[in-house]
Amino acid sequence: MQVKGKGLLKGLGITLKRFFKPKVTVQYPEQRLPLPDRFYGKPEFYYDKCIACNMCVNACPNKVIKLETEAVDKKKVVTRYDFDQQYCLFCGLCQEACPKDAIKFSKDFELTQYNRPDIKIKFVKPEQVEQRKEEIRKAAAEKAAAEAAKAAQEAALKPETADKEGT
Ligand code: SF4
Ligand code: SF4
Repeated sequence: MQVKGKGLLKGLGITLKRFFKPKVTVQYPEQRLPLPDRFYGKPEFYYDKCIACNMCVNACPNKVIKLETEAVDKKKVVTRYDFDQQYCLFCGLCQEACPKDAIKFSKDFELTQYNRPDIKIKFVKPEQVEQRKEEIRKAAAEKAAAEAAKAAQEAALKPETADKEGT
């Protein structure tokens, strides 16, 4: 014999049981759950650490990273480091490959953008490139000046040494 309202009572029983159990939901975005240590969120690039070795580019299976360099006084200057997030697998291979910790992933998972072009992150700013070029040129000029001064000092000492040898 079928008892009327049996299903309803069963459902209410489950609701009642759940009502007194601890809540598993959080009030996002006010409340946030802790993320695992190895979570890969928004990428971060440290321009000053990068040595333009291309290891991250070669490690990436999806060709997400575009790196461009320019030679200044026989030194490589990174002029472009674009990260196209829409193709990223967040596998962390680029981070693992980097010998200088120049590319890292934060725990920021809010990556949505209103405009499609904004998904691509252009990490390198023109003023950073100019500053790096200036630093290299300055260092090269200082080195050349030091070498010239050393050569002049050596040249000045030479006749003195020659005189001593002659006597
Ligand atoms: S996390 Fe993986 S897919 Fe994304 S840029 Fe790095 S290597 Fe490429
Ligand atoms: S692996 Fe690191 S140091 Fe080398 S190019 Fe990539 S970010 Fe720069």
